[in-house]
Amino acid sequence: MAALCRGSQRWKRIHCFHVFKRKFTGKHDYDLVVIGGGSGGLACSKEAAQLGQKVAVLDYVEPSAKGTKWGLGGTCVNVGCIPKKLMHQAALLGTAVKDAQKYGWQISGTVSHDWSTMAEAVQNYVKSLNWGHRVQLQDKKVTYLNLKGTLVDKHTIRGLSKAGKETILTAKNIVLATGGRPKYPSNVPGAVEHGITSDDIFWLKKSPGKTLVVGASYVALECAGFLTGIGLNTTVMVRSIALRGFDQQMAGLVTDYMESYGTRFEWKSVPTRVERLSSGALKVTWTNTQTGCEHSDTFDSVLWAVGRSPETKALGLDKVGVQISKETGKVIVGADESSSVPNIYAFGDIGEGRPELTPTAIKAGRLLAHRLAGRSSELMNYDNVATTVFTPLEYGCVGLSEVEAERRHGKDGIEVYHAFYKPLEFTVSQRDSSQCYIKVICEREGNQKILGLHFLGPNAGEVLQGFSLALQCGATYPQLTRTVGIHPTSAEELMKVNITKRSGLDPTVTGC
Ligand code: FAD
Ligand code: NDP
Repeated sequence: MAALCRGSQRWKRIHCFHVFKRKFTGKHDYDLVVIGGGSGGLACSKEAAQLGQKVAVLDYVEPSAKGTKWGLGGTCVNVGCIPKKLMHQAALLGTAVKDAQKYGWQISGTVSHDWSTMAEAVQNYVKSLNWGHRVQLQDKKVTYLNLKGTLVDKHTIRGLSKAGKETILTAKNIVLATGGRPKYPSNVPGAVEHGITSDDIFWLKKSPGKTLVVGASYVALECAGFLTGIGLNTTVMVRSIALRGFDQQMAGLVTDYMESYGTRFEWKSVPTRVERLSSGALKVTWTNTQTGCEHSDTFDSVLWAVGRSPETKALGLDKVGVQISKETGKVIVGADESSSVPNIYAFGDIGEGRPELTPTAIKAGRLLAHRLAGRSSELMNYDNVATTVFTPLEYGCVGLSEVEAERRHGKDGIEVYHAFYKPLEFTVSQRDSSQCYIKVICEREGNQKILGLHFLGPNAGEVLQGFSLALQCGATYPQLTRTVGIHPTSAEELMKVNITKRSGLDPTVTGC
C-alpha cells in the first residue's frame, strides 16, 4: 500500500474509491485489519492468516514520557513479562550465589551486581524477539505496517507513520488490541518530570540506584523485588493494601517475605511532591494517611507503578460508535469480543473486565481468528485463569480467594486446608521459610470441589500451571489427596494438605 498525504487529490480519489468499493461491492483491501501488534494482536493476525484470511497488522509505539521506545511485540515482550522475568531471574541468581557457599562453592572476593551488563543482555534478547516477530509475520503472510491506526469509519482505518505519512486501509473486520500504558499520578507536582514507569525501567542504561516504587500491585512489587534482589536500596510506598484483588492472607505473606529480604515499605502513605535537589537527588515528600504526618527522603529514582490506562483515546472510537466504559476507558465487549459495532472487535488489555495477562490475550486472539474465519464458534473461557506474581518468593494462584469463596458459599460452606512447609533447597542454605505457605479452598459439602488454590514458594508459576488444568477439569479435594506426589518437591505439599483452618491445629509440615 503506497503512502499518501491526507487531503491530497490522490488521497481523496483513493479514499472515495474505497468508500465506493465498500458500499457498492462489499469488497475490502483485507479480510481483517488488526490494530496493535502486542501479545493479542500478533496471535490473532497470524492465526487468521494461517486460516486463509488476508490480514494486516498495524503496530506503533509512542515513546514514553521519558522518551523510551521499543520494537514490535507489545508490552509483554518489550516492557512487561519478558524483561521483568529476566531481571527477576538476575535477582534469584544473587540469592543462589549466597546459598551456593553453603553448598560448598568457594566464591572469592565480594559478589556484586552490574546493572549495565544485565540490562544490555536483557535488551539484546528483547531486540531478538522484535526481529523474530517480524520474521514470523512475513512467513505467515501477514502484512506488517509500522503505523498508528485510527478508525475512519467502521470498515476504514487511517494509518499514520512516524514521518506523518498517511495510509488508508479497508477491512471487512477490524480487531482492536492496542493494550495499555502506565499512568502517572495527576496530583503530584514533579511526578512526570522526575519519575519513570515500567515503560522505562527495563531500558535504563545505568542503574536506577536508590529507588522509591509507588504502588503496591503486581508491577510495583515485582519491580521492587528484583531491584532489592540485585542489591539496590528499595522502598515501596503503599497507599492502601498490597495486591488488591488477591487473597489478602497471601498478600501479607508476600510483603512479609519482601521485608525480611530487604525491601522497605512505607504503609498507608501517599506522595505529595517530587523535587530535584542541586545534588541531583530526588527529594520525595509524602503524607502518612493514618497519622497525618508529613515525611521526606531522597532517592535516585522514583518509579510510578500506579496502574495502567487503556490505549483507546487515539483510536477514534466515538466517531464510529464503539462504546467504552466511562470509568475505565476500556472497550465494552461481549463474550465473543465484539464491540458495539458489529464488525469491530476488541480484546486483551483494552477489553472491559478482561484479565490483563498475556496468555489470555493470546488465547482470546486465536479463538477470535477462528470465529472470524468461520472455522469455529468456540468462545474464550476466562474462568479459573492462573497467575503468578514474580516477587522474591513467588505467589501463584488459581480460582477464588478465601474471602471471595466465603462471600459466594458462606463461611460454613467452605473448607480451607493449609500448610506452612519448608522447601528442601532452603534447608542446607538455612534460608528462612516462614512465609512458604499453601492454601486449598474447597466446598465443604458434596464432593468438596476445589474453589481456589494458592501457593507461595519457589517456582510458583511452574507449580501452578498443572493445577490450573485440574481446576478446569473440576478437581475435588479427595482427588487431590489421592494424587501421588513427586518427591522431594515443594509442589507435592499440595497433595498432602490435610489440616483445616477450622481445626485450629498447627499447619506446619514436619518430616517427609
Ligand atoms: P499489548 O501487548 O500492550 O500490545 C498493544 C500494542 O498496540 C503495543 O505495541 C502498542 O504500542 C500498540 N498500539 C497502541 N495503540 C496503537 C495504535 N493506535 N496503532 C497501532 N498500534 C498501537 N502478563 C503476564 O501474563 N505475565 C507477566 O509476567 C506479566 N508481566 C508484566 C509486567 C509488566 C511490567 C507489565 C506492564 C505487564 C505485565 N503483564 C504480564 C501484562 C501483559 O504484558 C499484558 O497483559 C499484555 O501485553 C496485553 O497484551 P495486548 O495484546 O492486549 O496489548
Ligand atoms: P494495578 O491497577 O493492579 O495496581 C495499581 C497500584 O497502584 C495499586 O496498588 C494502587 O493502590 C496503586 N495506586 C494507584 N493510584 C495511586 C496513587 N495515586 N498513589 C499511590 N498509589 C496508587 O496496576 P499494575 O500496574 O500493578 O498492574 C496492571 C496489570 O498488569 C495487572 O492487573 C496484571 O494483570 C498485569 N500484570 C501482570 C503481571 C504478572 O502476570 N506477573 C505482572 C505485572 C502486571 P490501591 O490498591 O490503593 O488502589
